Amino acid sequence: QPVVIGPAEHRIDPKLLSSNAVRVTQTLQENGFKAFIVGGAVRDLLLGVKPKDFDVATNATPEQVRKLFRRAFIIGKRFQIVHVMFGQELIEVTTFRGASAGNAPKDEHGRVLRDNTFGEQHEDAVRRDFSINAMYYDPATQQVLDYHQGIVDIRNRTLRIIGVPEERYREDPVRLLRVVRFAAKLQFDIDPATREPIKVMAPLINNVPAARVFDEMLKLLLSGHALACLQQLRKEGLHHGLLPLLDVVLEQPLGEKFVTLALAGTDKRVREGKPVSPGFLFAALLWHQVLEKWTAYQAAGEYPIPALHLAADDVLNAQTEKLALQRKIASDMRDIWAMQPRFERRTGKAPYKLLEHLRLRAGYDFLILRCASGELDAEVGDWWTDFMNADGAAREELLNHKA
Ligand code: ATP
Ligand code: MG
Repeated sequence: QPVVIGPAEHRIDPKLLSSNAVRVTQTLQENGFKAFIVGGAVRDLLLGVKPKDFDVATNATPEQVRKLFRRAFIIGKRFQIVHVMFGQELIEVTTFRGASAGNAPKDEHGRVLRDNTFGEQHEDAVRRDFSINAMYYDPATQQVLDYHQGIVDIRNRTLRIIGVPEERYREDPVRLLRVVRFAAKLQFDIDPATREPIKVMAPLINNVPAARVFDEMLKLLLSGHALACLQQLRKEGLHHGLLPLLDVVLEQPLGEKFVTLALAGTDKRVREGKPVSPGFLFAALLWHQVLEKWTAYQAAGEYPIPALHLAADDVLNAQTEKLALQRKIASDMRDIWAMQPRFERRTGKAPYKLLEHLRLRAGYDFLILRCASGELDAEVGDWWTDFMNADGAAREELLNHKA
């Protein structure tokens, strides 16, 4: 039985609610279904933070949900959810899942392969990852239903996995990454029993399909707390063998300043609500590995430009195996890297040609990071800043001055 918490106690500020999410629960309830705001949104509301998106849980089937809304789409084959659209806002509606994890088909390490049965609300709550992510809010009654003492953990700022930690990590090793992300982002303590198995369980992440790891990794990197998350990963010993990316990023002494600056910049942009390009981010995370290989290929007798492309190939190939870097992201990364030596050619027509590059802005921002980290002479970045801001005559002047 859940603990029921009324508005006088939880003090959720109704102004933080999305009117569209409320519309969704209302419509479902008017049609005889149960419906609640659930998960991260309830957690954020209880913390007095404006949720970035709203999920709804219901006992209506995906088909029943779809019929009730004008712009609603069933997404996913085996794990069906309904996307209800209101202009730009997307409300994700999920049907309560059954607590059948015990019987679900698993791989040889205990990872749940398929699990798509519907169930009761209390079963849905057991299936969620952390106590603070397993609360349900009904905007009509303004009650919070708390199945796993989430409210206590919110008050004590504690991250606690539901059930037996080791089993829950086995079922879905992505939860290892989620612990770290939430602990860093919310600045919560990890409950000792939740923390204890993390180190031993870490290698399990290697059996997870690369696309899922990538999704969760991207959430971590775009959380606005990427720097804190990576520091926490290191603290939990999760950077060894967890992902080749993290090995590379966290163990390159030369790249540390560069990566730190890149992540700090990304975190700042995210917190200001500005867009961040995953391609830029991954290009930055892996740049010092590219540099290392680039140098090696040149030492082996390659010309600089082909050497850079060979280095980029090596680094991208090593990552895609585990990380499923999407094609678009990989090609953005390659563009950004390939532009770098071109910034150092500051004579003749070359700089003008570079100005026309579609990804000039990203390449330039990357150049500035390289200068800020001390890898490159700051004078190069300053010259480009001036050149890009200058008009025709002033540009000629800059070129002549250089030549
Ligand atoms: P954020 O604010 O960062 O989006 P969130 O809690 O909403 O955090 P999501 O990844 O959007 O995180 O997931 C939504 C909800 O789904 C979670 O709150 C949790 O209840 C449940 N959930 C997501 N991933 C898992 C998982 N791997 N195992 C168990 N439950 C999960
Ligand atoms: Mg969410």
